Formats: sequence, C-alpha cells, structure tokens
Amino acid sequence: MEKLIENITDVLKTIKYPGFSRDIISFGIVNKISVDPDNNLTITIVLTTSNEDNKKNIQDSIINKISDNFNFKNIKVDFNDKVVEPNSDSSLQDNNLSDIKNIIAISSCKGGVGKSTIALNVACELSKNYNVGLLDLDIYGPSLPTLINHKEQPLIDNDIISPVEKFGIKFMSFGFINNENSPTIWRGPMVSRMTQQFFDNVNWGKLDYLILDLPPGTGDIQLTLVQKIKLSGAIIVTTPQDLSNVDVRKGSDMFQKVNTPIIGVVENMAGTILSGKIDNIDMQNNLSLNIDNQKVHLNDDGTFSFLYNVFKGDSGSSESERLGLPLLAQIPLDKNLSKSCDLGTPYIINNTNNTIHSEFIKIVKAL
Ligand code: ADP
Repeated sequence: MEKLIENITDVLKTIKYPGFSRDIISFGIVNKISVDPDNNLTITIVLTTSNEDNKKNIQDSIINKISDNFNFKNIKVDFNDKVVEPNSDSSLQDNNLSDIKNIIAISSCKGGVGKSTIALNVACELSKNYNVGLLDLDIYGPSLPTLINHKEQPLIDNDIISPVEKFGIKFMSFGFINNENSPTIWRGPMVSRMTQQFFDNVNWGKLDYLILDLPPGTGDIQLTLVQKIKLSGAIIVTTPQDLSNVDVRKGSDMFQKVNTPIIGVVENMAGTILSGKIDNIDMQNNLSLNIDNQKVHLNDDGTFSFLYNVFKGDSGSSESERLGLPLLAQIPLDKNLSKSCDLGTPYIINNTNNTIHSEFIKIVKAL
C-alpha cells in the first residue's frame, strides 16, 4: 500500500496548481490519499482559495491523471476548507471579495525589510496587464500614503469606501483613514474589526489581483488575517542576514499552518551594485581593482559594475531550499529605489529595462 501511495503522489506531482508553475504536492494542499478495500481512491485536498474555477481545474486534472495511470473503481476528490471556515468572523469570505480572482499576501517577519516597497512595485508591474488593487494592512506603520504620496481621506459614501486610484491601481490603507490616531494603541481585536470593515466596505470592483501588504511578524494578528482571508498564495520577503533566517522560517510555518500556498521567497537588499570608472586606464599596466578582498572585473575602458554584498548571509536562498520553493528574486539595495519611495512614485514607473525591473518581472511571472 505504501508503494501505491508513493506512486500516486508521484503522479500528483505532475499536476500544476492552476496559474502557478508549482505542483499541488509541493504546494502542500494534498492532505490525504486513501484507497479502501473495494479499490476506491479518495484524495483529500485542503484549500483556502475563493476561486471555484481553481477547484474544478484541480479536480479534473487529478481525475484525468489518475485514471490515465491507475485502475481504480472510483476516484473521489474531497475538498476540505475547514481550516478557514469555522472562524467566528468568517463573514469576510462571502463579501465583495468574490469579484477578486487572486488575493496574494506579501509578508515579512520583520519590519523594514522592504515588504511595502516590494508589494507596491509588484502591484505596479502587474497593473500593466491586469486590474490590480493593493491593500496595506500594516496598521502599526502604514507606509502606503508615503509610498504613493497620497495623504487625503478616501471617499466614503453610506459606509462604502472608494479605493484611491493612482498609477492605474486601486489602493487602500489604514493610513488614509486613520492618520491622526497613535498606532501604538491598536490591539488585536481592533485590528481585526478594522480589517473586516476594509473587506466588507471597500468597493474594489472587479480585480484580477488584490495584493495584501500584511503587517510584519507572525503573531496572532497576522495569523487571524491569513485565516480569515482566502488567500491564493503568499510571498515571503526577507533580507540576506542570517538573523532573518529564524524569522523567515516562522513566516513560512504560519502560512503552512493555514494551508496557504507559498509562492516563493524574495530576498531584498541582496547586495548593492557598485559601478564606476577608473580614468586613464590605458596608461596603466596590469591594473587590478579589489573591493573588500574581492577582485573586480575591469572592462577595457576602465568601467566596472560589481555586486557588493553589504549584508553577509544568504537567508533568501537557504529558506527557499528548506521549503523546496523558488527564490523568486533578489533585489539589490539601490538609491533610486529608496528615492522613489520617498518621492511617492513607484520605482517601476520611471525605471525599466534594468536589473531591478527584471527581478520584479520574475516575481510577477510567478503569479
Ligand atoms: P517594510 O514594509 O518591510 O517595513 P519598506 O518597504 O517600508 O519596508 O522599506 C523600508 C525602507 O527601506 C524604505 O525607506 C525603503 O525606501 C527602503 N528600501 C526598501 N528596499 C530597498 C532597496 N532594495 N534599496 C533601497 N532602499 C530600499
């Protein structure tokens, strides 16, 4: 029997989660495979998606692949949503979110790693081809108002909040509504209520993607949020330092606990590109340049471009290896990226066809 289950698992590994390049086994959604004495196969899938098409797609693929490879009397695919359903505030799941095809959480376990910067630029890159919204749920330090330079209150009519529209994206942030309240007084239940209002009352309309900028950390607030919302997937943002490694594991474990597929890991602040030129190079013989004990390749005209690892460690790649998930992108520290945040215009709007832009394209391709 063990061998049979192993063979079935191998076949299931060839089925991709709809819209993703990863298979349903590595996504961790296959909960149980059982065969009864009458040769009936039951596969239990635990899913938190709000997308009925995805369920149908997964079910059809399983039935087709299994019947092509085995000879069971009956094949049953059971969907089990109970991980998210019994939540007392589960009204979140039945509201206007049904017009949103994909809800993607961008999460980090620490503050200041660039989660909001990445959420914004991913939304921006996606918006070139899709209808996109970005919801900043970081109640303790909402940065969206600064990142898009929008400080005014949104329009509220009969309790329905209109998202702010800028750069072709719909935005909502606690910071638009609550700018004069001291964030330190917010406690879990209040955050939970506010979040619920955001989901019930924001008129997102039809969206292909809603990107959620989650508050940093993996405490009760984050866990409640990810349990309440039927997320399509999550991206984990970290920095290279080994110290981040401990935290990034906590983040991955949190999503696995609620069976949210983790799409991959993004390593931000992954070195910085130092570039420059040594003048009069043709007058020197055997000129060489070393930076921090690393030999730098010099071009014939004296120019060089070198990735300098500001932070030691490889938290991004070690976590992606541990999870067996892709390291989606490595975004270097860059003064223009930082400047774009301060100026309130997403980096991607004015900077394309460079290393950072291609890293953002890689993330978007994974969605
Ligand atoms: P978080 O949401 O994780 O708290 P933010 O996105 O607000 O982090 O970023 C924190 C600060 O770091 C911001 O000032 C932002 O401009 C800067 N920053 C983030 N990523 C980069 C990067 N790759 N290069 C330069 N500055 C960055």
